[in-house]
Amino acid sequence: MTGSSPAEQAAPVRDASDRARIVRPADALAELIAGNRRFVSGRPQHGHEVSAAAAASGGQLPHAVVLGCIDSRVPLEAIFDQTFGSICVVRSGGHVVDRAVLGSIGFAVSALRVPLIMVLGHVRCGAVDATVQALRDGDRPDGDVGYLVDEIAPAVQAVGLDDPEAPDKAMRAHVRRTVHRLREVTGVPAAVAAGKVAVAGAVYDLDTGLVELLT
Ligand SMILES: [Zn+2]
Repeated sequence: MTGSSPAEQAAPVRDASDRARIVRPADALAELIAGNRRFVSGRPQHGHEVSAAAAASGGQLPHAVVLGCIDSRVPLEAIFDQTFGSICVVRSGGHVVDRAVLGSIGFAVSALRVPLIMVLGHVRCGAVDATVQALRDGDRPDGDVGYLVDEIAPAVQAVGLDDPEAPDKAMRAHVRRTVHRLREVTGVPAAVAAGKVAVAGAVYDLDTGLVELLT
């Protein structure tokens, strides 16, 4: 968020590495899915060499901001095969949002002009599992960890604690709820109405590496 020239200046169409900017939401989504398929197939285009960092050092024209979980098995740039300057990443436990998360996404839209906001949940999410367990046990964690549970709880309650597949269904419900919340971020409704931004939800499979779009 510092250093390089703001992307909004003079509607630049190329970044310092001479990479054309993706401006249409559908194209940004297609690129993330294509990148994920490259990752799954074992043929990623992008490594994380310092030369790639240097090529992007003069400016950034990211085509998406992705909100994901802190889970160490879900590194977003890797699973979407994206290079330096391509995507903004926000992560929190169970992709729970707070004002800092919302502000970061708003900044990506208003200042960096990203055309896509994606929420990425994942299977066997520890934060969702912990919320299911806390509600079943009636034992909410104290303090800051309890905040995560409180924010995920509505999705779990919507699914129902008696459902044997509650953790997976709740994770998907939580992704959808988060998508709805991000559609309300300052500046996003107008951008969506103008066709400049889309908000998508998806789920990552730890075993296969595949990203599945939720519709
Ligand atoms: Zn998780």
